This record gives sequence, C-alpha cells and structure tokens, in this order.
Amino acid sequence: MDLLLVEDDPSVAASVIDGLESAGFSLTHVSKGQEAIIAVKNNSFELILLDLGLPDLDGQDVCRELRKTISTPIIILSARSEEIDRVLALEFGADDYMVKPFGMRELVARIRAVTRRAHPPETTSSETNQSIGDLVIDRRTQKVHLLGEEIHLTPKEFELFAYLATDPGAVYRRNDIMNEVWDTNWYGTTKTVDAHVAALRKKLGHQDWIESVRGVGFRLAISDT
Ligand code: CA
Repeated sequence: MDLLLVEDDPSVAASVIDGLESAGFSLTHVSKGQEAIIAVKNNSFELILLDLGLPDLDGQDVCRELRKTISTPIIILSARSEEIDRVLALEFGADDYMVKPFGMRELVARIRAVTRRAHPPETTSSETNQSIGDLVIDRRTQKVHLLGEEIHLTPKEFELFAYLATDPGAVYRRNDIMNEVWDTNWYGTTKTVDAHVAALRKKLGHQDWIESVRGVGFRLAISDT
C-alpha cells in the first residue's frame, strides 16, 4: 500500500516512515504543502498523512486543495500547539485526525480502519448499484452519478449518502447517522453531520435531495424527476 507522508519535522517523519515501513507500507515523503499537491497530481496514493504546520502552506489549505480533485483518504497529523477541532478537520475534507505524539500501533490501526471504510469488500455491481430518481449509487466503487455525470464525494460524504440511501424517504436520526458513519473517534458532535449534509447538497446541486426533518435528522428525498 502506497502512502504519502506530508511532514516537515525530520524526526517525526523518520519515526513514521520507520514504523510504517516495518508494518509493510511503502511511503513517499514530502515536507512541503506544494510538494504534496504536485506528488498527488503525479501519483496515485492509497492514503495521505498530512501534517498541519507546514513551512509553505497551511495543512488545512493543502487538504482543501487536494479534495478538489481526489477522494483518497486523508489523516491529519496535528501537534498539540496546532490542535484543531475535529469538526473543522472534517469540514476541510479529512477522514481522521491524530494528535502528536501518537503511537505507531494506533497510527497503523487508524490507517487500516480508514482504508477499510474506503474499500468495502468486493461484490458484483448488480448487487451494489442503486438508482434513486436520476441518481445512481455504486457501493462497490463508491461512486455516485447524477444523470450520468460522476459526483466527486469524499469517503465520508459517500458513506453518509449511501447510509441515507439505504431506505430512501425514511428519516434517519442525527445520532444514528453519527454512530453508523463515524466511528467512536468522532463521536460527540452532530454538527459534523450537518456540515457533511451541506457539502453533499452543494455537490448534488440541489437542496431538495436531502430533506431536513426539524429536530430529528435527515432523509433522502425520493425524486420523481
Ligand atoms: Ca510541522
């Protein structure tokens, strides 16, 4: 599995590379935000580990920039001095978040968890394709098409959307959505759900796809168009 490590602190980078290589991962290491953007353009990584305090660009801006083109899972590595709110990390498109210093075992576990969610077990497309109005959801490739055009969703946005699509028209409670889509690392605030719903609506190009049910949660509207 090829990972990109974006980290300017040589000692942190060395220990991450050491730990992950001995766990069987292969790593490309860059120490600047701009280098990360270029590396992602020219290679396909399975996961990105992104430090926030970089010498040239802010890690948050790097994350936002990467999210314009790729849906590769991103785990933020943050020093205590630059500790950020988890909701904020999700809002700029990260999938998980680790505060330094962290243990290698925990990092490996998080990498495996994030990639497992990004690549669910293979099934045939007839089992996994679902049409709702003009939308087609493919759970195998984690892609959503609207009128034949692919909508680029982050892994979390896809999971949220796929969860709401389990039973179109049914109302899902915020807390149930949190439990189902975010694991315990993120448990705690339902603002995360609202932020992702807002992002999904924007990408789908229509508010009406996801209806807010006041005081309860959300449902996927069944479209007749
Ligand atoms: Ca740094």
